[in-house]
Amino acid sequence: MTTLLPTTTAGSLPKPSWLAQPETLWSPWKLEGDELVAGKQDALRLAVEDQRQAGIDILGDGEQTRQHFVTTFIEHLDGVDFEKRETVRIRNRYDASVPTVVGAVSRPKSVFVDDARFLRAQTDQPIKWTLPGPMTMIDTLYDAHYRSREKLAWEFARILNEEARELQAVGVDIIQFDEPAFNVFFNEANDWGIAALERAAEGMTAETAVHICYGYGIKANTDWKKTLGSEWRQYEETFPNLQRSKIDIISLECQNSRVPMDLIELVRGKKVMVGAIDVATDTIETPEQVAETLRNALRFVDADKLLPATNCGMAPLSRDVARGKLQALSAGAEIVRREILG
Ligand SMILES: [Zn+2]
Repeated sequence: MTTLLPTTTAGSLPKPSWLAQPETLWSPWKLEGDELVAGKQDALRLAVEDQRQAGIDILGDGEQTRQHFVTTFIEHLDGVDFEKRETVRIRNRYDASVPTVVGAVSRPKSVFVDDARFLRAQTDQPIKWTLPGPMTMIDTLYDAHYRSREKLAWEFARILNEEARELQAVGVDIIQFDEPAFNVFFNEANDWGIAALERAAEGMTAETAVHICYGYGIKANTDWKKTLGSEWRQYEETFPNLQRSKIDIISLECQNSRVPMDLIELVRGKKVMVGAIDVATDTIETPEQVAETLRNALRFVDADKLLPATNCGMAPLSRDVARGKLQALSAGAEIVRREILG
């Protein structure tokens, strides 16, 4: 990738209103059968076009083919019973009714590989694909089989690695694992979570990324953020081990967040996806605001390692707002590019 400051998104983009209820997280599909398959592909094409028109450099599928960033993957696995549900506390923050692990987990067939192949066919630009991370997966399930968070995480890591290798084989350039759980369960992340993530990324020739955010702009998350004080230092807990890990890229939330920018110094040497778009507000950043966040980050990450990005997914936003934010990201990155190149 030769572009300086290549822009990308954390992952999700809003879905068209004919596919799923807009401005709603995890909303059910409005189509079924063959119509749903075609509808998802049309939506993916539109998501690619929106990114391309905005000038985004590394394209994603906007997560148009999945309802939820974790459960859609788990739905394709054996060993999990979606009828048998239990209420658990997600990331110590909100209660959710989740499926139950009832037996050994396995992946009978590919989950996203056809979708990734379809994305690959839409563009010659680099593409990135998102998968849930092992630790975030176990936190979204009730485990009645392994009875061990760590054991289940290692099983998921093995399964994720199978999927990641197939995604790489159809031409995905960057595989991103979403691990917001790293910002909550520090001890487990350091004890085995980061090791399990490396297992998921084992043997990859594609670049690998880990996205660690403070979540979508939903109330449970914004309420939680209010309790974190004037400085959010969660990243400090895991960065030293992530710096030593084999993961290539670390995706962070930096726009309107209270994360002290100097924490990025702790992962010096890694590529960093710097979140320069706040996904918890409809207010569209100005290119200058984006540029200012990127300039701040550049004090702690080398220019050839910085990827301007969004804080998190934009699925809950309106399409107009999301498009505006993509354009702001692109324009802000261009301002800083010109400054660097003189
Ligand atoms: Zn996120």
